[in-house]
Amino acid sequence: MSRRLVVAGNWKMNKTAAEGKALVEELKTRVAAVAPEVEIVVCPPFTTLGAVVEAAAGSRIRVGAQNVHWAPNGAFTGEISAEMLKTSGVEYVIIGHSERRQYFGETNATVNQRLKAALAAGLKPIVCIGESLEEREGGRTEAVLAAQLEGGLADLTPEMMQQVVLAYEPVWAIGTGRTATPEMAEATHAFIRGTLERLFGAAVAAGVVVQYGGSMKPGNARELVAQADIDGGLIGGAALKADSFAELIEQAALGHCGK
Ligand code: PEP
Repeated sequence: MSRRLVVAGNWKMNKTAAEGKALVEELKTRVAAVAPEVEIVVCPPFTTLGAVVEAAAGSRIRVGAQNVHWAPNGAFTGEISAEMLKTSGVEYVIIGHSERRQYFGETNATVNQRLKAALAAGLKPIVCIGESLEEREGGRTEAVLAAQLEGGLADLTPEMMQQVVLAYEPVWAIGTGRTATPEMAEATHAFIRGTLERLFGAAVAAGVVVQYGGSMKPGNARELVAQADIDGGLIGGAALKADSFAELIEQAALGHCGK
């Protein structure tokens, strides 16, 4: 079965509006020749979204946000609703990134609330899951991922699940230069797909895009994406320059088309 390839750049707290616009202008030209089945997403900070939506208009680059609140509006200082994102031209939204879980107290329950709000507004969520180094070394990777999937995806129907992209990001590989080997990543992705099958049935599980994230670079993207259950990447550091992001996308496309 062939799933689409989705490569998304998470800019985190980087890039002013002018810097984001310049990056997208350069990226547009660089990726024009990449196979059309590759979906390319950039996720700037909230204040840069408007400029990037404008710069990406009419191109193949889609725009995502890095978080969303679950309430439609109200007294939630500093938060942004799903409708605010949708009406700003945003298509994707990252939910439950490990940095949000680690530094801002997000839990599987709040991931689930945000996810439902994003789906209700017609946004495409990228839901992040992943184990810490301590959890991996303690042999708890599968239990942690199963709990993140069961809690984060609670109450979703199979139809809703078809709109969701998952990103498996081992926390010990994010921003550390330490990548999971392709074999190790594939084994974990296969476990995730097996869990999706248990929760939503075989047909839905076979169709869900599951990205890998954690120090993915132009040099390792092809081999990672060539794995049977890896359908793209969520990229931090390597997405901050048009050259490295475009090269990574080209390599991922090569890995994907060999499957
Ligand atoms: C991320 O922030 O989701 C990420 C994978 O970062 P990096 O590529 O820098 O490891």
